[in-house]
Amino acid sequence: MITYQINDALYINITNRCTNNCCFCIRNNPEGFGFDLWLRKEPSLEEIMAELENLELYDEVVFCGYGEPLERYREVIEICRHIKQKGVRTRVNTNGHANLIWNRNIVPELSKFLDSISISLNTKNAEDYMELCRPELGEAAYDAVLDFARECIKFIPEVWLTVVNVISAYDIEVCRGIAKDIGAGFRVRRYC
Ligand code: SF4
Repeated sequence: MITYQINDALYINITNRCTNNCCFCIRNNPEGFGFDLWLRKEPSLEEIMAELENLELYDEVVFCGYGEPLERYREVIEICRHIKQKGVRTRVNTNGHANLIWNRNIVPELSKFLDSISISLNTKNAEDYMELCRPELGEAAYDAVLDFARECIKFIPEVWLTVVNVISAYDIEVCRGIAKDIGAGFRVRRYC
């Protein structure tokens, strides 16, 4: 399934690929969350665009699925450009690894048609991150998430850091402080 709707938002699922393997990832839950988001084949840009009908009906379009959308950041930019032409808000939910994946700062380019970005911080430090998120990019991944967030603050109107409520209350508060220091909003997501 490439698109799905939750409340007044349209969600776009463009890849299964992800550079994390989080212990809490919904992909590890055989029941998922009611949508069949495992892509048998990664959709082309044209196939994704073909699903974007009646965009004016939605408050927001969100890139969020079973993988990391910025693995395909060029397609994300093209799709966001199209969505913004319809006057609809755009948001990307990301693991924050994009600049490490692409080995350069993609944020200035990405930000052109993006209203909001939600970055998974998940833990208070790199050691915990290695254990909880099991990044294939190794120990550099956690600092890359923080650096990515700092870049997003410079260019994107709304930046959120998030954690899932599988960590302790103490850790959540430390993460809240990290978000505050960076200048980002902070959200605690519920584990499904
Ligand atoms: S970053 Fe998101 S998609 Fe990737 S493993 Fe973690 S929860 Fe799953």
